[in-house]
Amino acid sequence: MPSSGSLADFATHLSVDAARARVRDLCVPRALPAESIDLERALGRVLASDVIVPHDLPPFSNSAMDGYALQGADLASERERRFRVAGCVLAGAVQVPRFETGECIRITTGAPLPPGADTVVIKEHVRIDGDEIIVEAGQRSGANVRPAGEDYRAGELAMRVGDRLTPARLGVLASCGHATARVARLPRVALFVTGDELVPPDRPLRFGQIHDSNRYSLGGLLRDLGIEPEPIAQLRDDRDALRVALREAGECCDVVISSGGVSAGEADFLPAVVAELGRVHFWKVRMKPGMPVLCGEVGGALVFALPGNPVATIATFLALVRPALLALQGANAFDARVSKARLAAAVSKKHDRTEFLRARIQSRDDGALWATPLPGQGSGMLRGVAEADALIVVPEHARELAAGEVVDVVPLAGID
Ligand code: AMP
Ligand code: MG
Repeated sequence: MPSSGSLADFATHLSVDAARARVRDLCVPRALPAESIDLERALGRVLASDVIVPHDLPPFSNSAMDGYALQGADLASERERRFRVAGCVLAGAVQVPRFETGECIRITTGAPLPPGADTVVIKEHVRIDGDEIIVEAGQRSGANVRPAGEDYRAGELAMRVGDRLTPARLGVLASCGHATARVARLPRVALFVTGDELVPPDRPLRFGQIHDSNRYSLGGLLRDLGIEPEPIAQLRDDRDALRVALREAGECCDVVISSGGVSAGEADFLPAVVAELGRVHFWKVRMKPGMPVLCGEVGGALVFALPGNPVATIATFLALVRPALLALQGANAFDARVSKARLAAAVSKKHDRTEFLRARIQSRDDGALWATPLPGQGSGMLRGVAEADALIVVPEHARELAAGEVVDVVPLAGID
């Protein structure tokens, strides 16, 4: 990549895959340091250490049901059988009653199994007769018991560095006795929207103006990753204003994301300003929408300059920025958010760019997901993306894809 010369020299026209590979290479040496945080705040964060289970889970053999603990050998499988109820043990009991052959102990779910017991008969299969019970025929020895370590064994690897914390994984950490998690620090992200035509949504529009929507779409995409951006600046199409903002953000942030001003129009200053203050890694990617996207660096920050067209902003974020934000945290599955679906209608295109089509996804009785492309695919048309569940990925060299063909789809972040 030249560091001076004509701006056109920076236009690399990478494929989406090549751009993503470049982004990954840029992120690996910038891996963010680890920190310890409370489990309550750890959802979605990326583990910075392996998690080894310190003790068996469950830690002791216990009952899976409410019922009666006994020795399976005492059951008479073909006949009813009487047992004397010798005691009771509830979940949380620290002392466990003893019992003899022919006796049983009343037990609740999660209570420790009395020594010698290997079976729990659920109370629905039992009739009570004074201090005795009559167990129905057909009960199975060994039933309804959760042996110590059946879930995880002491010393087992439960999670690896780079795993993202889901609600269930938070539960595993807590079960291991951890109140905190060692995770990668979140990237500090600065967000700029640029454009002389932009007005905040609470201000009336004059002719020629539009409300700034990208601030909210991009903010939402970041918050979906648990990242709260620094206060968002709205910048005019002014070279000096961009210079000042980028230089400042490059000093304090890990990532700078901008929207607008990255094409080749006369008010599109971002490519030149990034080249002047730092480096352009690539500019223009063979994708539709989103071709003008730029990736560079200024100061210590990676810079993603996204085109302002609202759908292009979202598509470039999902294709390149989301993977970068996860890769910086060391996530193993940083760009794995792709599923397969069948096309519900044929699609065609005439260009050699990867196209991201807005689509509704339906799960049909054949067990497959079906993707229906929505009308209104213009890159400035928010309706298509607002009504979509996913983006269909039409590969760059594909021209015609028939209905029924299997394609990749990228789910859109959002609320079901
Ligand atoms: P640009 O990438 O600056 O050439 O902008 C492309 C198109 O996106 C133009 O029609 C802009 O008005 C529109 N646009 C740019 N920024 C935003 C924004 N923050 N919110 C909504 N539309 C925008
Ligand atoms: Mg603009």
